Amino acid sequence: MATTTAPTFTLHKNVTSFLKTPRKMLIGGEWVDSVSGKTFETFNPATGEVLGRVAEGDRADIDQAVKAARKAFESGPWPEMSPSQRGRLIWKLADLLEHNLDELAELETLDNGKPLFFSRMVDVPSTADLFRYMAGWASKIEGNTIPLSARGGQYFAYSLREPIGVVGQIIPWNFPLMMAAWKLGPALAVGCTLVLKPAEQTPLSALRLGELAIEAGFPPGVINIVPGFGETAGAALAAHPDVDKIAFTGSTEVGKLILQAASGNLKKVSLELGGKSPNIVFQDAELKTAIPGSANAIFFNQGQCCTAGSRLFVHKTIFDEVVEGVGKAARKLRVGPGLDPNTNLGPLVSQEQLDRVCGYLESGIKDGAKAIVGGQKGAGSGYFVEPTVLVDVKPEMKVYREEIFGPVVTAVPFSDPEEVLPSANSTVYGLAAAVWTRDISKAHRLANGLRAGTVWVNCYDVFDAAAPFGGFKMSGIGRELGEYALELYTEVKTVYVNLG
Ligand code: ADP
Repeated sequence: MATTTAPTFTLHKNVTSFLKTPRKMLIGGEWVDSVSGKTFETFNPATGEVLGRVAEGDRADIDQAVKAARKAFESGPWPEMSPSQRGRLIWKLADLLEHNLDELAELETLDNGKPLFFSRMVDVPSTADLFRYMAGWASKIEGNTIPLSARGGQYFAYSLREPIGVVGQIIPWNFPLMMAAWKLGPALAVGCTLVLKPAEQTPLSALRLGELAIEAGFPPGVINIVPGFGETAGAALAAHPDVDKIAFTGSTEVGKLILQAASGNLKKVSLELGGKSPNIVFQDAELKTAIPGSANAIFFNQGQCCTAGSRLFVHKTIFDEVVEGVGKAARKLRVGPGLDPNTNLGPLVSQEQLDRVCGYLESGIKDGAKAIVGGQKGAGSGYFVEPTVLVDVKPEMKVYREEIFGPVVTAVPFSDPEEVLPSANSTVYGLAAAVWTRDISKAHRLANGLRAGTVWVNCYDVFDAAAPFGGFKMSGIGRELGEYALELYTEVKTVYVNLG
C-alpha cells in the first residue's frame, strides 16, 4: 500500500470558526457549559493533534437534559404539533444537512479520520436521506381496529401507537452523523423527545447537527445533545429513572452494561452491537465483482464497521486467486489523511483503537497466522494501520473469533456449502453475512441458513433507510431503519369502548 502525504487543504470557513471555540452542549434549546465547567479534547486522527474542545457532560448535565426533554414531551409546542408539522421539521433538517454538506463532511473527516470522499458521498447524503424517509412516516403512524370475539359484539376495540416518551440515545464514533440520524429520525417522527450522547472520540458533527435542528425550528428541549464519556454521561443516561427508553449502538460489552443499567426502571432497550460477519465466496461466483466486493467489505471505513466482512470464506478451488486479489486491492489502497483527495484508507479513530488493532495483529501472527499483505502499524504520527489479509488462520485464534474493528480480514478455505454454513454461523455474533455465487438456489439456501440480521447476495454493505437493520444473537436487540424503527419508539395502547 502506498501512503499519501499531508495535504494543504483549505478548510471551509465555518469549520475553522466552529473549531475555534470550545463547543457547548444543547439543553432545553440553549447552548450551555457543563455544570462542572469541565471540557475535553477531541483529536484529529490523521495527526494525533488536538482538534477541538467540547463541554464534558456528566450526571448533573444528563439530569438537566432529561428534565428539559420531559418538559418538552409533556407541554409546549411539540405535543401539540400535528404529525405533518413534525414531518416538515424533519424534512427541513434534511434540507439543511444537504445545504451544509461541504462543511459537515469536513468536520466528520477531521473528527473521525475517514476519507473526505466517503464523508461527502456516503455519510452526509445518507443522513439526509434517512431524515427524509422518517419525515414521511411522521404522518403514517397508525393503530388498528380489532375484531373482538368476546361478549357478542358489545365492545369496540382499537389500538393506538403513542410515542414512548423521553428517549436516551448513545452512539458510536464510526459513522458519527449517520448514527445520530438513525437514532433521531424515528424518535422524532413518532413524537418522542430525546437526549443524545455522541461518542467522546467524535462529538463535533452531532453538535453541528444540533445547531441545524434549532435552525430548522425544533422546539426547545425536543433534541438535547450532551457530549461526554461513556462511563459517566453514558452510564448516567442509561440508568436515569426518568428516561423511558434507551437506544444504543456500540460494542457488545457495553451493550450488556446498558441492559443492566436500564433494569432500574425497566426502560425499553434497543441495541445494535458488534459483529464478525462471514463473507462467503463460492467457486461459481463472478470473481470480478466478488474480489473487489470482498475487499470493500473489510476495508470500507478502515474496517470500523459493525458489519465488516472480517471472516472471508473462499472455496478451496479459487482460494489463492481470491485471496491474492483481495491482497492486491489492499496493496493498492493509499493510506493517508482523510482530507487528502488521494487517500482511500484513512487513520483509525483513536490511539486506543490503533493499539487494539495492532494488538490483534500481533496476537494473530504469534498464534501462527500469516499476513500476505499488511500486518503492521502504518507510518506517520496519525493512527494509521496497514490493510491486512491473514491466512493460515485456525478457528481457535482470537483474530478469527473476536471483533477487531479494523482493516483486518482472515481468509479460510472451505470445500462445500454444508461445511461452510456451520463455520459461518459459529460465532456469538449475527449481524450480517454475504454470499457470492451465480447459483440462485444456493444463494437462497444460504440466505435462509445464515443466522444474521442482514444477508447480502453478490454485494456487500448495501443499506437503505427503508430496510430493517439489526442483529441476531449477541449482535443486538431490535431493528433500526425501515418501519421497524418506529416500533422502537412507540408504545401500543389498546382501547375498549362499551357499545352498550
Ligand atoms: P468502542 O469500544 O468501539 O469505543 P463503545 O461501545 O465503548 O465502543 O462506545 C460506544 C458508545 O457507548 C460511546 O458513546 C461511549 O461513550 C458509550 N459508552 C461506553 N461505555 C459506556 C457505559 N458504561 N455506559 C453507557 N455508555 C457507554
